[in-house]
Amino acid sequence: MSTERIPGFCALCRSRCGCISVVEDGRLVAVEPDPTHPTGKSLCVKGRAAPELVYSPDRLLHPLRRTRPKGEPDAGWVRISWEEALDWTAEQMRTVAARHGPEAVAFAVTTAAGTAMSDGLAWVERLIRLFGSPNIIYAAELCGWHRDFATAYTFGTDIGTPDFARTGCLLLWGHNPSTSFLAQATAAAEAKSRGAALIVVDPRRAGLANRADQWLRVRPGTDGALALGLAGVMIAEGWYDREFIGDWSTGPFLVRDDTDRFLTATDLAGDGAPENYVAWDRVSARPVVYARRTAAFVGPISEPLLRGSVTCATPAGSVACRPAFDRFAELCLAYPPTRVERITGVPAAQVVETARLLWERRPVAYFHWTGLEQHTNATQTVRAISLLYALTGSFDAPGGNIRLSRPSVNDLAPLALLPDAQRQKALGYAERPLGPGRQGWVTARDVYRAILSGEPYPVRGLLGFGSNLLLSQPDTETARAALAQLEFLVYADLFLTPTAALADVVLPVASAWERQGLRVGFGLSQDGEVLGQVPGRSWRRGARRVRTPGSSASWPGAWAWASSSSAGTRTPATAMCSNPRGSRWRSCGQSGGACAYRSSRATGGTRSWPGTARRASRRQAAAWRSTPSASWSTGRRRSRSTSSRRRAR
Ligand code: SF4
Repeated sequence: MSTERIPGFCALCRSRCGCISVVEDGRLVAVEPDPTHPTGKSLCVKGRAAPELVYSPDRLLHPLRRTRPKGEPDAGWVRISWEEALDWTAEQMRTVAARHGPEAVAFAVTTAAGTAMSDGLAWVERLIRLFGSPNIIYAAELCGWHRDFATAYTFGTDIGTPDFARTGCLLLWGHNPSTSFLAQATAAAEAKSRGAALIVVDPRRAGLANRADQWLRVRPGTDGALALGLAGVMIAEGWYDREFIGDWSTGPFLVRDDTDRFLTATDLAGDGAPENYVAWDRVSARPVVYARRTAAFVGPISEPLLRGSVTCATPAGSVACRPAFDRFAELCLAYPPTRVERITGVPAAQVVETARLLWERRPVAYFHWTGLEQHTNATQTVRAISLLYALTGSFDAPGGNIRLSRPSVNDLAPLALLPDAQRQKALGYAERPLGPGRQGWVTARDVYRAILSGEPYPVRGLLGFGSNLLLSQPDTETARAALAQLEFLVYADLFLTPTAALADVVLPVASAWERQGLRVGFGLSQDGEVLGQVPGRSWRRGARRVRTPGSSASWPGAWAWASSSSAGTRTPATAMCSNPRGSRWRSCGQSGGACAYRSSRATGGTRSWPGTARRASRRQAAAWRSTPSASWSTGRRRSRSTSSRRRAR
């Protein structure tokens, strides 16, 4: 009997646990943890059950075509060839696009956070964007939007990565990594064992809540009040990082009492730039303009005012103003612990103790997920928590939530593949211009409406990639009626799910263990983020892992740290290369200084992370910057770890 132990990763959820696939005589018999991989210390039951998934007797094995009308109990499935299935599907897509535009074809894509779409999503998105449709039902609004984009509207970036290894206090809010992000759970448990404080906000005493220093049993849906109450205690006690707020947030910027808008340089002097805001120097008692383009104050400022009110002289007369932070403080102080207890069920004394813990055990790292995000007020709740977190001054600091160095590789599915005009046709975009439609993600409800009523335009066809809409989205009966009305419905899945059973054509997909795995960056830690996996074998998930450009390993000349040979000896692997002139995923074979592309990048191209990160961060922040308002946000402008404080300029 031949046995192979093939390193790879479990693609079944966002944890992307490093694993060893055990193959006996060509048959997958077990999947085991790979402790040498940054995310591979343990596997959950889902990952370990991979052989059951791969060899399930219920798997779809061939493309199928319906021969009976929709609505009949028996679809009359007949087996067809891949050529017939793909030709028919492509013909339907082309026909609908020619008659009604590519937006009339919608797509449904399962979540990469909890399914084997983890390493395939970018390829599917590439197909959709190049086809030209702005309509992907992706469920982002149900679970991931708030974590990544409510924070982007507050921080300018997503939530970042908790620095488990260095944190002094870990805050898990509506997030039980023991069941949803195993690699995080392992890292959190290690942090706790090392002595970090642990705060868990969850109605249930589940997972790590059992080990928490503070378990806050919040009444579901009242998390926003809890965040404001905690922030109120911290502000009242002076437990907040004034330097961080003064240097790295919009907190010092003055807001006019008469309009509730930021005071601008134009208000101050008619010829000032309208996009520039104004702070008040507490020491010299005068306004100081902040230039957004250079992210620095114009002129010296000793100590920006954070609390209180001032009167500014303008050409139009005196204007009463308060710093944005003062307004935030006023809101938070309206939620004293006793009021928070009434609203949330969390005892007032525990609110105070938790606030103390957040301050005294800094740096704080935090994470939140679906517990918060499946509520109607999730966006504002997450913004309140983001601002609470900002009080600790831990964002982008060691031990806080950090931005990891990411390997520089080509983006497979940039939004730019979709022309602007098409992007703006995303269903729901007009009603929710700051919502998921900006990314081409639409709600199932909007797609059903477009199919059934033709509003705002008709959707005539749908391709599903593993998203079982009848079960994963609300309003099953409307979904059933809408899908039955389509000119064509094609579904790709492992099994004939209730939604796939409504299709005209069904396409069987390979499981994560039956295709080559490609992954750049595993997250969790810097070690994990610089790791890449490239196809290295023909069987299943066999792969090579390589340190990617930007890692601490010398570059060029990346090294393999897991062998692709069955003998288990370490062998040099081909380094990943994003040279557009070479092959996409392998280097052109030139080594050392012979590679002009590498040389140019090493001397100021896009290779170095900090530069790339800052540029990306600025672009992202600019892209997400909403209309100036009186809200207070961190408005992070550059990496704290690599730049000087803004008022030092
Ligand atoms: S936590 Fe996710 S990636 Fe890890 S073994 Fe389980 S399903 Fe696989």
